[in-house]
Amino acid sequence: MPVDAALSELAKPIEGGQPWPRPACPKCQTGYIGFSSPVEDEDHDSAEVRDHPAFDPEWISGTFVVRGQCENPKCRQAVHGTGDYSVDYSQKTNQDDFEFTGPSYSPYYTVTHLHPPMLIMPIPVSAPSEVREGVLRASRVMFADPGLAATALRATVECFLTAEGIPVTHSTGKFRKAHERIEEWRRADPGRPSVADLFFAVKWLGNAGTHEDSDLTTMEVLDGARVLDEAFHRLFTGPDIEAHARSINAARGPKR
Ligand SMILES: [Zn+2]
Repeated sequence: MPVDAALSELAKPIEGGQPWPRPACPKCQTGYIGFSSPVEDEDHDSAEVRDHPAFDPEWISGTFVVRGQCENPKCRQAVHGTGDYSVDYSQKTNQDDFEFTGPSYSPYYTVTHLHPPMLIMPIPVSAPSEVREGVLRASRVMFADPGLAATALRATVECFLTAEGIPVTHSTGKFRKAHERIEEWRRADPGRPSVADLFFAVKWLGNAGTHEDSDLTTMEVLDGARVLDEAFHRLFTGPDIEAHARSINAARGPKR
């Protein structure tokens, strides 16, 4: 299962009346989360200007809640979401209607939180627990704080290196740079350079996310998650499949 395309759709404003994306359920990972219509609460400042002579629907904004549930009948996991909405021109209006009725407006919903969090990327079964934790941490903040999510993805790479026995500190006790640690890991095995390049990309994204003035978007972080997913896919899923194949072959005995 690659990085969920529905998450990219959830990272963009969703027009009112349009169907919501259906991300994979983080609990059962086989069902999809179906969302009901959001419920709006207009902000005080927005409500106050409704009587203004120059009032324009584009001034309307507020917060919303949305409820989702896993469509798998054996799971039915509930998901609670929230975020901000604002009103803008409808994308649904066709030009003919526009000429007769003027512009039509729609609310646009921007998700900031979903709980329980959707998984930013699948967690490989044989990944060390530090990798699992890192992916979960990034998942919790991917909509609320993309820069922090990118930092968590970089930390996931660092935790993986630690689990692989690459020391965190120099003999002096000083912390080593991530770059140097990835280099050391790359050199230890001739099969690793292609994966190391993916790790470097995630490291760069994490560095960008850590900056105070980071303007990373959730879409960019999801691209980073795709890169890390590919790295872990090459590391774990391949060997997973090979190990599985070996066990099947062993059970069937030698070919006759
Ligand atoms: Zn489910």
